[in-house]
Amino acid sequence: MRGWVWAAGLLLAPLAWADQVPPRYAEHDRVLTEPQAVIQQVRQQLDRDEALDPARERDALWWMGTAGINIGDDAALAEATLRLDSLSHAHHDAAAAAAAGFLRARHLLESGGQGGLAEALRAAAQVQDTHDDALAAWATFQLCDAYTMDENAEGAVPVCLRAETAYRRLADSWGMAETENNLGINYASQQRIDDAVAMYQRSRQHFSALGADAWAASVGDNLARVELQRGRPAAALALSQESLAQEEASGRVTDALLSRANIARTYAALGQPEEALRRISGTVEDARRAGKDGLLPDLLQTRSEMAEQAKHYRQALADAREVIGLISARRTPASRTAEATLEARYAERERELRIRELERENRLKDLALKAAQAEAARRDEAQRRQELSSRMSWLVAAAMLVVALLLYLLLSNQRRHAAALREQALRDPLTGVDNRRAFLEQASALVAHRPPAGVPAHVLMLIDFDHFKRINDGAGHPQGDRVLVEVSAFLRETVGPQGQVSRIGGEEFAVLCPTLGAEAGMRLAESLRAGVAALPLPAEAGAGHITVSIGVALFDAARHRDLDGWMRAADAALYSAKSFGRDRVVASTLVG
Ligand code: GH3
Ligand code: MG
Ligand code: MG
Repeated sequence: MRGWVWAAGLLLAPLAWADQVPPRYAEHDRVLTEPQAVIQQVRQQLDRDEALDPARERDALWWMGTAGINIGDDAALAEATLRLDSLSHAHHDAAAAAAAGFLRARHLLESGGQGGLAEALRAAAQVQDTHDDALAAWATFQLCDAYTMDENAEGAVPVCLRAETAYRRLADSWGMAETENNLGINYASQQRIDDAVAMYQRSRQHFSALGADAWAASVGDNLARVELQRGRPAAALALSQESLAQEEASGRVTDALLSRANIARTYAALGQPEEALRRISGTVEDARRAGKDGLLPDLLQTRSEMAEQAKHYRQALADAREVIGLISARRTPASRTAEATLEARYAERERELRIRELERENRLKDLALKAAQAEAARRDEAQRRQELSSRMSWLVAAAMLVVALLLYLLLSNQRRHAAALREQALRDPLTGVDNRRAFLEQASALVAHRPPAGVPAHVLMLIDFDHFKRINDGAGHPQGDRVLVEVSAFLRETVGPQGQVSRIGGEEFAVLCPTLGAEAGMRLAESLRAGVAALPLPAEAGAGHITVSIGVALFDAARHRDLDGWMRAADAALYSAKSFGRDRVVASTLVG
């Protein structure tokens, strides 16, 4: 079903109240812009003026009926139709009979009832023999309008073209404007899009030139549909909104519903299926509430398509079914075959839908199963990794411990070894006392750290065995070694903690006594000399006793400067002791 302008026709003379716009068209305009006021005014006029001229009464009733249709006021329509019928009987007025017939036809066509077109044809037959050109043109246009509303474009176009010719002959631009609009509707349904656009534009121009903006807007609504078909949704939306505003302002329910459907279609074309569906649903519900059942097949068909576009398949199917139901209630058995085909198609569609839903459910279950399996595997893997990593960290900790232990052992062993090496490096292997290197280290340290003033001086003794060659020569080298061992043991024991005994040459020893001072130093040297001389030697040594000569030097920084100087002083004292006959102690001060 297509949108149409509720044409009022042009037969009738103007009513008395309209004088602001050109009087001929004032009612046409008011029927659209103030339908309630028109109805009320006619009622008042009929109540007031019982002796109204029949032609005027007929005109007034026509406007009232038309306004009633426009706003869905069935009472007004019924009243107008009944009064027209009685007028036609009372005055044998064929025009009144035709007007009543056309109003009934419109009502039937709009409400989706059967027989609307037949009623219109009967109405047209009432005036077919008239000599009144204006009446003939009006009737032809009404028939054109009925065909148009019945969506019978093939029937409509020739009748509408006849109406257009008639109106042109009468130079009636209002009639032409209405007819052009109807032609546009029919051309559009025949997919003659360019012809439809041309017709709508001409109609709009005519209405606008007559100052009938509401009518121009209604035509604009029709044009919007075609603009949409031409792929120009923005232009369509602007046109539809403009006419909707006009229609709502004047309470024209049917036209407003059709404009809203157009707007919904425009949103669908603009790629907003949810918005389109929301709008068409509102329109469908309002159409039901207003009892505009004639509009329902078209609106529901539109909603079915939009619901499908928005993927609401159940809604799409439900609407498609309702459309089938509505059409089969209205149509003759002849059209049932096509409907049966349609029904079969939708049954098939529903089956497909169910299969698709089942497949979807299966897919979802399959996905859920796979997800659960994947999750379980992931957890297993995570647990395995955790166990492995905790085992690994234990292993690593243990390994670190072992490595640390090994390193510790290695290090302490190395330290021990190093200490032993050092010990070896500083000890005389034969006698076990310090060797020359140990002596030099300690003596150097003493020279570097001189005792402060008032502290007794460091004492150095150099000891050389007297005539040692004789023992070697007499008893042999090993016996000489034995003597060396015994004497050095005595020296160490006697010196004790007072100092350090070192073997610095073959049978030469040094005794280093830090801060012992001159007096104690000489006393100690003397006791060493006397002790050695008294030391009994083993019988195998070949000599009962051995003596030593001792040179003593106190460290005196001013005189000696360094270790070398200190040692030379002691050596000189030792040399003197030898020179004076051996077995004696000589202090370097005595020498120097
Ligand atoms: P003097 O009283 O002048 O010192 O006479 P001396 O025989 O001790 O002479 P000198 O000190 O010059 O000679 C040292 C001798 O000591 C020479 C060497 O045969 C001997 N001798 C050196 N080292 C060792 C050793 O390790 N073992 C033994 N058995 N004899 C040694
Ligand atoms: Mg010697
Ligand atoms: Mg000697």
